[in-house]
Amino acid sequence: MIYLDHHATTPPSQAVIDAMAAVMAGSWANASSKHGPGQAAGRVLAGARSVVAQALGCKPAEVVFTSGATEANHLAVRGLLAAAPEGRRRVLFSAVEHAGHLKLARELMDAGLPVDFLPVRADGTLDLDAATRLIGADVAVVSLMAANNETGAVMPVAEVAALAAATGARLHVDATQWIGKRPFTFAEWGADAVSFSAHKFNGPKGVGALLLRQGVVIRPTMPGSQERGRRGGTENLPAIVGLATALDALGDLAAEATRQASLRDRLEAALLAELPHVHIWSRDVPRLPGVSFLRVGGWEADVLLQRLERLGFAASSGAACSSSGSAPSHVLTAMGVPDEEALCAIRLSLGRTTTDAEVDALIAALPTLRSLLPAAEAVAA
Ligand code: PMP
Repeated sequence: MIYLDHHATTPPSQAVIDAMAAVMAGSWANASSKHGPGQAAGRVLAGARSVVAQALGCKPAEVVFTSGATEANHLAVRGLLAAAPEGRRRVLFSAVEHAGHLKLARELMDAGLPVDFLPVRADGTLDLDAATRLIGADVAVVSLMAANNETGAVMPVAEVAALAAATGARLHVDATQWIGKRPFTFAEWGADAVSFSAHKFNGPKGVGALLLRQGVVIRPTMPGSQERGRRGGTENLPAIVGLATALDALGDLAAEATRQASLRDRLEAALLAELPHVHIWSRDVPRLPGVSFLRVGGWEADVLLQRLERLGFAASSGAACSSSGSAPSHVLTAMGVPDEEALCAIRLSLGRTTTDAEVDALIAALPTLRSLLPAAEAVAA
């Protein structure tokens, strides 16, 4: 099976697996214990934290390890909101945040808090004029992703950071699809908090972090003494070391992005040439290098994905977390795409382990794919 769903998750590298196994076998003591084995585990934890800080251009004390991006997103929004001065209660989310994060928006609304959504344009990019209007003096937190997990569209984080700073609002950035794919340093964006997850860059699942700018106060959602009181619970040391190992191995991100973008562009050219009525969303705006979010005429995503799987390719109809049902993608809905077109969306996402040969294999399979698709469903764009 050729795996083309790297935005959902990525395979852990052998170096990550080895590093984690070594920690599980040798450094299993509680990193907070005062005895020798505990102190040794504490040193492993400190080492991993330094590696992360070094890789992401922040201070070790600015790294708060969590169980992944979902938790880091919650910690940022709830934690910054709880610590906001009186009079600042409004929370802004972009309309295309990750589905799990938008559930938090719904929860806050149900609790009676004022919540607004920053709209996107038809091309999937943030509507900065609307953001300028909405970011006002009553806003506690603005939560914006760095790049969308479905379309790959890049968001104007630095511009929004400037708007937030001008009004005194905190900015949280969900950089889950950015970190590991594009060059990043914490200070560059001017965000107060940035979340990410290790399994998007060949690290393990169930571990991530919130980077929290020095001096920014949050109220923990899981109180405890670990992580300087910002996130309780015995640290998942093997996973944290796995995360640090994966980050450390990233190498030249710009070169890897160029490689993936050229594979993706080659694939898109072949899709447009071989299949009828292909439409690729966010193709003309800056987007992440390995992703292509598209529909083939009116062919339903489920049908297309089944045929692709039969030919040996694993792809998805969008975010794995919301692709189990057949509701249209909220990202496409926010872009103004009608339901009947959104239900045809499939996402092909390449990664660091994707080879030229794998992309060639898909290109070679396109004529067969076309012949497998029911002709009646090939309605025009
Ligand atoms: N935010 C974005 C943009 C994502 O793509 C994902 C993962 N699909 C998450 C958050 C959730 O990450 P995790 O699985 O680590 O909770």
